[in-house]
Amino acid sequence: MTWTIKGHDWAVDLLRQHIRRGAVRHAYLFTGPPGIGRRTLALQFAQALNCRAADGKIPAKPGDPCQQCRHCIQIGRMQQPDLSIITPEPDSLSIKVEQIRELQYTLSLSPYESRYRIALLADFQTATESAQNAFLKTLEEAPQKAILLLTADSAENLLPTIVSRCEVFRLRPAGVDAARQILAEMTGMPEEEALRLSHLTGGRIGSALSLHQDPSALEQLDQIFNDGLSLLEASLPERFAYADRFRAKNFGNRKEENIRIKKLAQLTLQTWLLLWRDVYLICLQADIPLVNLDWQEKTTALAEKVSSQAAQQQVAALENTLNLLETTNATPQMLMEVLLLDWSKPLEEG
Ligand SMILES: [Zn+2]
Repeated sequence: MTWTIKGHDWAVDLLRQHIRRGAVRHAYLFTGPPGIGRRTLALQFAQALNCRAADGKIPAKPGDPCQQCRHCIQIGRMQQPDLSIITPEPDSLSIKVEQIRELQYTLSLSPYESRYRIALLADFQTATESAQNAFLKTLEEAPQKAILLLTADSAENLLPTIVSRCEVFRLRPAGVDAARQILAEMTGMPEEEALRLSHLTGGRIGSALSLHQDPSALEQLDQIFNDGLSLLEASLPERFAYADRFRAKNFGNRKEENIRIKKLAQLTLQTWLLLWRDVYLICLQADIPLVNLDWQEKTTALAEKVSSQAAQQQVAALENTLNLLETTNATPQMLMEVLLLDWSKPLEEG
């Protein structure tokens, strides 16, 4: 056995080389949209670092986790004495300074039974400012045998001083075609199903696997797809009312609710992007993959009513909005309002 993560071969090659050449860094940051395998890659790197095979007891090449020794198995389950996992606290959905302080103490101890003491800090963009500042100290003072693995949606959402002290791996979705092949191989699902899921998730394998396991998620996508179509003919007040769904909450469990809203906005934009990319391709008379018969019929009907230029502008507007949502502090509601302001233009021009 070896690395089983799919779609990030370049990253696996580099990480393996770091171990083989004895050039392992103190801190690594894996960034990219959720659902592409950031945490899986970090955990497999942790396995490769602490696999018993590395000290010659089990025959395997250094840099490749055997996936069979006790260390590999325990790390895979995220339960190993020398592995600390830091995730956002459930009540606030953020990583708190107390968690970092506790980690600092743990890291100061020698590894209990492994080569390295490893900390995995997941979704580090949720860390509070004081947690990020405390972590900066951890980065500077971490002992020789400690390795810090961070995951985040994008490096831009972290303190630059943290990013500059990490080896950064910017992960990208595998791409629709590669994801289709990988999904079919991994799960044995039929080719059409693999194509549909990889197209729906823009080639993000982790997300595709989650959809595969959750039929209600597919229903939600259907709803969003149809909302995108009906908003084309909605009045401006109706469109703004839709944008209001993404308004930040100032009461109750605020942070949790606002993260849910941001995720919904992300999913909405991704689904509409899929819709408009297909409309654009049909306008250009290119083939589109069959995602869903109902969607295909509606997309084709829409493509007959709009120009390819208008479709291209919608794609650009959606990509831009998605990018702003992921990399700035602009509120989802404001971004949606700006987007929906011109939403009916393609039909008016068509
Ligand atoms: Zn192993």
